[in-house]
Amino acid sequence: MTFDVITIFADFFRSVLEYGVLKRALAGGQAHIRLHDLREFTEDGHRTVDDRPFGGGPGMVFKPEPIFKAVAALESESPDQRFPVILLSPQGRPFTQALAEELASEERVALICGRYEGVDERIAEHVATQEISIGDFVLSGGELPAALIMESVIRLLPGVLGNEESACQESFAEASAGVRPSCVRAALVTAPGQSSRAAGPLRHGLLDFPHYTRPAEYHGWRVPEVLLSGNHQEIRRWRRRRALEKTWRRRPDLLAGFPLSEEERRWLEALRAEEREPVVIPSSGEWEL
Ligand code: SAM
Repeated sequence: MTFDVITIFADFFRSVLEYGVLKRALAGGQAHIRLHDLREFTEDGHRTVDDRPFGGGPGMVFKPEPIFKAVAALESESPDQRFPVILLSPQGRPFTQALAEELASEERVALICGRYEGVDERIAEHVATQEISIGDFVLSGGELPAALIMESVIRLLPGVLGNEESACQESFAEASAGVRPSCVRAALVTAPGQSSRAAGPLRHGLLDFPHYTRPAEYHGWRVPEVLLSGNHQEIRRWRRRRALEKTWRRRPDLLAGFPLSEEERRWLEALRAEEREPVVIPSSGEWEL
């Protein structure tokens, strides 16, 4: 998979690319990241990429021409290939694990990093195929969002993580046949009493279950006994239950529309009965307690 990043701060990415999963994926050839200096696509002596906003107001705005030319140059490299051209923007579609999965199925993605007051709106309207936001807050530039998106997408590419199934079991993981078949297997074994899941794409968007490692007791805090039992079926059930419980307590919105088995529904009913404080459960889901 190739990422083409259009930025005025290419050096920003150097250290990001030199560590961990990204470094491994680049060295292993599973991913390529090409950094394109936006100033290379200017025509004046000062290599100007920005200008004052029409209508007045503070700050500067990225001009449309250099970005237009940068994207056109990328497109001319492979005229028959259509690929997402993403403008990083706080006004874009919220970035989620599901969107990371979607992007991981692309062969090539272009990322446009804005700065200052942002980018001339005609880029969003006519050049970018979509806008993506990494959250409801404003950063000074698109470089951090671009790095974040590349990191989360690249770790999903086949062969990048040591254990193929580890990405399937993480928080928000969305298993869908065709993207990562190993995730379908993982979701099936972690979903007790849900044989219907064998058919078709499925969602597995819970928060992750809690993890523990040695020592089994530390400062009197003991690891849950079941994890030391060696009973793998019981461990799977416990993990699934804790993932569901955590999701219900912290992110009930993720359960809206989530396909629960009868057993899982009963777990949640029991939890709700125990709870003193009312817990808000979104009403838009397919299930009601
Ligand atoms: N004036 C813009 C607004 O209020 O929507 C904010 C511009 S911001 C200071 C400059 C650039 O940072 C944006 O063009 C975008 O590329 C990037 N950026 C800032 N926050 C972002 C976010 N939450 N997600 C994605 N990109 C972001």
